[in-house]
Amino acid sequence: MPRKFADGEVVRGRWPGSSLYYEVEIMSHDSSSQLYTVKYKDGTELELKENDIKPLTSFRQRKSGSSSSSPARRRGSRSRSRSRSPGRPPKSSRRSVSASHQADLKERRKEVLEVKLIPLKSFGNSISWSNGEPERVERVERVERVERVEQNDRPHQSLQDKFHLSQESSYISTQYSLRPRREEIKFKEIDSKEEEVVTKVPASSRTFDGTATQTKDLEFGGVPGACLLMLGLPAFLILLLLMCKQKDPSLLNFPSLPAWHNLWETRVFGAYLLWFFFQALLYLLPIGKVVEGTPLIDGRRLKYRINGFYAFLLTSVVVGAAFFWGVKLGDVYNHFLQLALGAIVFAGLLSVYLYARSLKAPRNDLSPASSGKAIYDFFIGRELNPRIGAFDLKYFCELRPGLIGWVLINLVMLLAEMKLQKRAAPSLAMILVNSFQFLYVVDALWFEEAVLTTMDIIHDGFGFMLAFGDLVWVPFIYSFQAFYLVSHPNEVSWPVASVIVALKLCGYVIFRCANSQKNAFRKNPKDPRLAHLKTIHTSTGKDLLVSGWWGFVRHPNYLGDLIMALAWSLPCGFNHILPYFYVIYFTMLLIHREARDEHHCKRKYGVAWDKYCQRVPYRILPYIY
Ligand code: NDP
Repeated sequence: MPRKFADGEVVRGRWPGSSLYYEVEIMSHDSSSQLYTVKYKDGTELELKENDIKPLTSFRQRKSGSSSSSPARRRGSRSRSRSRSPGRPPKSSRRSVSASHQADLKERRKEVLEVKLIPLKSFGNSISWSNGEPERVERVERVERVERVEQNDRPHQSLQDKFHLSQESSYISTQYSLRPRREEIKFKEIDSKEEEVVTKVPASSRTFDGTATQTKDLEFGGVPGACLLMLGLPAFLILLLLMCKQKDPSLLNFPSLPAWHNLWETRVFGAYLLWFFFQALLYLLPIGKVVEGTPLIDGRRLKYRINGFYAFLLTSVVVGAAFFWGVKLGDVYNHFLQLALGAIVFAGLLSVYLYARSLKAPRNDLSPASSGKAIYDFFIGRELNPRIGAFDLKYFCELRPGLIGWVLINLVMLLAEMKLQKRAAPSLAMILVNSFQFLYVVDALWFEEAVLTTMDIIHDGFGFMLAFGDLVWVPFIYSFQAFYLVSHPNEVSWPVASVIVALKLCGYVIFRCANSQKNAFRKNPKDPRLAHLKTIHTSTGKDLLVSGWWGFVRHPNYLGDLIMALAWSLPCGFNHILPYFYVIYFTMLLIHREARDEHHCKRKYGVAWDKYCQRVPYRILPYIY
């Protein structure tokens, strides 16, 4: 059985014979007996079963509940008893000993006997265990620890007695129970009360791993940052498109504001709606496998239908048929601004709907990123997985209307280039941009299942940020190079094209291999194909890869993505910086995203994550960042 906790990891270990957990450090693990040697803060060392060790995070979750409601006060007495130092004897042993207390102590001694006690190193003693376990030499503190519990009962117990005790208990060592049945029931009751308290903690104050915080760090600059992004990004997008359409698309050439009818046309908005609902229809088709997402805070796992690639194929058939019957797809270029504004309006309306419905959502359904601050939550998303029946709004928007829309927009640009520049065939630059981005989208749809473990799905709610990002930013900014090439042609020679293709392939290999390696590992850590990789144990039960792609840098997939982004821009030449906007923005996005992910991983994995950072010091770019 693989061990769950790593050496050096700080966790909580149950004190033998009680329900109290104290902070301990894992010293070592015996694979034959499956016991961990742990060290308490006062230096005491004991051996514990895996079941009696818990990650620190699970305790934070419980503690949090104690600060608010009345159940928390009920729990308060227990919290206090928990905070007793493991070095101190139980309160009972300090009081004068009554008859009932004597009985209690007897009970305790019985429990203590169930703990494997081991002889003193300082006395040079060692014991060959009767059950054939290897010879062990241990420290006096283990025995002293038990002595403290028992001190009223046997105040002058000799060390030999203790050795005897340890030998006596040795036969139970592989099957000891630290909790007698009577107590088990009592603690189960208390535990269930605690669970009740935990669920009563407002989800808005819960952190990524389900714990609660009093003061929550808001990302993206908090409320002011969210306001700025919500107002600034749509305006910035329109500005970029206007700039790009100018004859001279330099940054200093500020475009004049277009007439209203050039920005808004209800017919175009209708076409956008048609596109959105057509994709929704494809999403509902009962084709493709159904998989489970990662467990939610309450242990539930939502089901998702994986049919994005089929949706893409069916869309291609419909678009092909439309082209065949003479629909002038290239003309969409003339309505591009109106289409972008239509998408912005739709994303805004969708965000309002999402926020309104989230007000009625049960607390367990709220996103760990939500804060309780209305404007911020409108931006980051309040509800984690808003669904209408089985229709998952966030999952649908992640990859379908925007991503497939991006390929369609690129095709529109290709046709528009041929028409505007009176070409019989598209330029090599346009072909490169189209095929590179086509590959990216097909890859994302082919590996659609991988989206279920991304931050977007498991951490961020569905609000303006993702609605705008998925439905507006991706299709209209990511197609920027193709849009640029329509009115700013760039001739690319074959040798230059070969270098760009090589760069793209290099980025793709890094991106795909890194993502696939991690996904395969997360799916099945015992996958024989990954047996050669080194890992670090973490207290969550999930290990971290420290060799292979994830031993190269801490985010090799981001590195590959950035290399590909550069390859998308290079076909546009070096006349203007505008087609490089995507690379610049994407670098900033991934640096920020990497920092967010590190923050989450540090909270999730604690010491193990620090170890990983020591072993793999660079984040994205080796020797630089
Ligand atoms: P990642 O795929 O990078 O996943 C990060 C998670 O992976 C961590 O939270 C952790 O989660 C796990 N992990 C981290 N290190 C290790 C390790 N050493 N061993 C095992 N697991 C590890 O997250 P993203 O969602 O940010 O990115 C997914 C892909 O999407 C990337 O290729 C990225 O480039 C791309 N992307 C593209 C965007 C675009 O606009 N084009 C935008 C954002 C991302 P856990 O341990 O819980 O499994």
